[in-house]
Amino acid sequence: MKYKGVIETYREYLPVSENTPVITFYEGNTPLIHSKHLSDLTKCEVYLKFEGANPTGSFKDRGMTMAISKAKEAGKKAVICASTGNTSASAAAYAAQAEMDCVVIIPKGKIALGKLSQAIMHGAKVFEVDGNFDQALNLVRELGEKYPVEIVNSINPYRIEGQKTGTFEICDQLNAVPDYFCLPVGNAGNITAYWKGFKEYYNKKQIDKLPKMTGFQAAGSAPIVLGKPVEKPETIATAIRIGNPASWKTAVAAQEESNGSITAVTDDEIIEAYKLIAAKSGVFCEPASAASVAGLLKRRKEGKLPDQQLVVCVLTGHGLKDPDTAIKSGQKPKSLPCNTSAVIKELGY
Ligand SMILES: *Cc1c(COP(=O)(O)O)cnc(C)c1O
Repeated sequence: MKYKGVIETYREYLPVSENTPVITFYEGNTPLIHSKHLSDLTKCEVYLKFEGANPTGSFKDRGMTMAISKAKEAGKKAVICASTGNTSASAAAYAAQAEMDCVVIIPKGKIALGKLSQAIMHGAKVFEVDGNFDQALNLVRELGEKYPVEIVNSINPYRIEGQKTGTFEICDQLNAVPDYFCLPVGNAGNITAYWKGFKEYYNKKQIDKLPKMTGFQAAGSAPIVLGKPVEKPETIATAIRIGNPASWKTAVAAQEESNGSITAVTDDEIIEAYKLIAAKSGVFCEPASAASVAGLLKRRKEGKLPDQQLVVCVLTGHGLKDPDTAIKSGQKPKSLPCNTSAVIKELGY
């Protein structure tokens, strides 16, 4: 077997030793897809890094292979996380392989169905609480202090270490460094991780320049853009429905050090991009992921993106995670009698 997952592939960049049991589903090695449609629209070269192709359907697997392997190494018997969905799906799967218990705290009614079904099927102990993600994370922090359970949210430094491998992969796949690097920002662990990865590759002379980190929050959940926490965050993009990001400071540092930006996109812009990516590039991502492309198109429209730039947009999770939003956003199938003439008439061929 050639590809061995992110820990074995990037071992020299990660805090692991011979004694670390590697818990892996061979995550990473996700496709970097050139989008002709988005390139034509923006007069740039646009690539989509499809993190939805990870084993549990989101980039969270890159961080989770590290967090669970290190928890196992430390002899922990249980892990806990608050989640908008994908963290719990990933934690539950990796904990199952590691033969550890997984406790999941989710905000009531705000989890996409696909994600919840994963956590349940992998045998996690799932609890819905009457509160938003930020409140759920506070609860998890308290439990983590009082009981011998390992927190596997992105406040766990090993999550960030694993997630930075996304950077290495993109540079290796492109054999270049993007001018603009676009991604959604929720709890802000991922922008922190990617920027750390770029800096490490730069310091090791694997690359000779750094990209502008271009992050996007949903307008109804845009604390970093507003400069203050949002009490009641709202957005259709549930994975980034976060009012008080845990990695706020490091996200701002990534923006400042890279001469980048963190700005907001509306839910309408997110849904428009979500449909466009699926219909015109053939890549089905979840709504939060589409914030990266929505933001790119918005910045182009505002004259904030020059021609001929090399752009990578991270599509953080798979569209199948949230079938409800997909079905609501698209056209329902039309009912027809079961004969050829009816179909041909409808098609107008
Ligand atoms: C977790 C997640 C995000 C947000 O990442 P942060 O590290 O919290 O900023 C974005 N999109 C998807 C699909 C996610 O699962």
